[in-house]
Amino acid sequence: MTAASAARILIVGPQGSGKGTQGVRVAEGFGIPVVSTGDIFRANIKGGTELGRKVSDITARGDLVPDELTSEIVRDRLSQDDAASGFLLDGYPRNVAQVGHLDEFLSGRDEALDAVILLDVPREESIARLKLRADEQGRSDDTEEGIAHRLDIYENETAPILAVYGERGIVDRIDGVGSLDEITERIRSALSARGLTLAA
Ligand code: AMP
Repeated sequence: MTAASAARILIVGPQGSGKGTQGVRVAEGFGIPVVSTGDIFRANIKGGTELGRKVSDITARGDLVPDELTSEIVRDRLSQDDAASGFLLDGYPRNVAQVGHLDEFLSGRDEALDAVILLDVPREESIARLKLRADEQGRSDDTEEGIAHRLDIYENETAPILAVYGERGIVDRIDGVGSLDEITERIRSALSARGLTLAA
């Protein structure tokens, strides 16, 4: 086994953009863990933990969990050994305040994000995919209003983080419409242009 290459990546996109699926594929290629705040919250809700009880109503409404709480969970997760040589963040940071929290944490370790992958999918396509997922997986936040509400939050609160990262020159906008393999290949080639190369 070759050593995992250091890569600190964020994947951003509206709900239904396929960022979860693509995130797992990319992280596997680099041998780095996926850190998905949505998955962490869902696991805690399912497990009936104190954190799960705190966030279950908020996530069911499609609102954002308070920034401090979310950032603390991410700091704990990124402090684990497997994230020492890289990680792929999915779903965090989700607003400009969280970008500040992450910057502070990473700069304290002399680290920074290497790339921000924006999976670009039109709103109508996201809605269609989320409706399908609601039928298949029965996620409690995938109701019609829930979907519209979360897409509004994405547009109003999450999209602005792209301007912040854009100024740093680390955003790669990827067309998120196409087959799974085509999209993974687009991401791979964008990362490779930044000198971040996935294992074969
Ligand atoms: P996701 O699976 O990323 O769509 O996340 C599911 C839900 O978890 C969201 O609708 C929010 O309620 C909550 N959540 C996930 N990530 C964050 C975050 N970075 N900040 C606040 N809330 C979050």
